[in-house]
Amino acid sequence: MKKLSHITVVFFLFFWALGVHAQDTEVIIKIDSVSKDVYMLTGQGGNIGIYVGKEYVFMIDDQFDRLNKKIKAAIATLSDKPIAFLFNTHMHGDHTGGNASFNDSRTTIVAHDNVRKRVMEREKQKLAEQKITASFYQAMLPEVTFSNDITFFEGEETIMAFHEHNAHTDGDALVYFLSNNVMHMGDTYFSGRYPYIDLSSGGSVEGLIKTHKKALLVINDDTVIIPGHGRPSNKKELQTYVAMLEDIMGKVKDAISKGATLDEVKADPTLAASYDDAYGGGFIKPDAIRATFYNSLLKK
Ligand SMILES: [Zn+2]
Repeated sequence: MKKLSHITVVFFLFFWALGVHAQDTEVIIKIDSVSKDVYMLTGQGGNIGIYVGKEYVFMIDDQFDRLNKKIKAAIATLSDKPIAFLFNTHMHGDHTGGNASFNDSRTTIVAHDNVRKRVMEREKQKLAEQKITASFYQAMLPEVTFSNDITFFEGEETIMAFHEHNAHTDGDALVYFLSNNVMHMGDTYFSGRYPYIDLSSGGSVEGLIKTHKKALLVINDDTVIIPGHGRPSNKKELQTYVAMLEDIMGKVKDAISKGATLDEVKADPTLAASYDDAYGGGFIKPDAIRATFYNSLLKK
């Protein structure tokens, strides 16, 4: 029995490796031009933001390390200027996985304090398991961190990054390009699909809604929003999205106050039914969003 399970594991790893390899060769980095100087890159994982300035490139998030050559090739089609700053919107591996490969002497990685802490925790584990080297570990970490906000001035552009607490995680930041009128919202916003709120990394439903309301105060009707996942979006769609979240929040709070259990909320499609067609086809399915709302709101 022991031998059999060992063989099963070997086979599983073999096919898993094949699968990963096949995925890599198939991934194409698509470039969307969202304003005069800002682009959105899509491949696998979180959407990348690229600003091409007068003197340098400002990059937001970097997907997975295995895609770093493809991502660099895509950026090279936009500019040959150095990537002076690589900004991490939060700690998840599909946004920070490429940190080490982009972190050369010309690039400074910037993120919220908690991003560094959590990336450190994750990569330390990999180092202990000898999956990465000590120099790779060091290169994965953000080199400049901030607690509330940080601003970059580049030519005509002002790039404002501000932290929003306990939204998708406990280290999220939104990045707003003032002249280009583009906002990268990281994973605080999944356009066209239910949000993923990482409760175990400090995320919360109420924090997410608060973040959206803050974003709505900053942007205008012409702003292009780069979401963490999904297609480029705008103020109107974000307003509709927040209204959806608030409606579901109200219904789940009501169910909690009536003593509903997690299983009952998960099994009750009426709590978000009118939105499932529009938002339930992504990574977070209807029962998962009901469970997330329940677990997040019950904590209070
Ligand atoms: Zn994320």
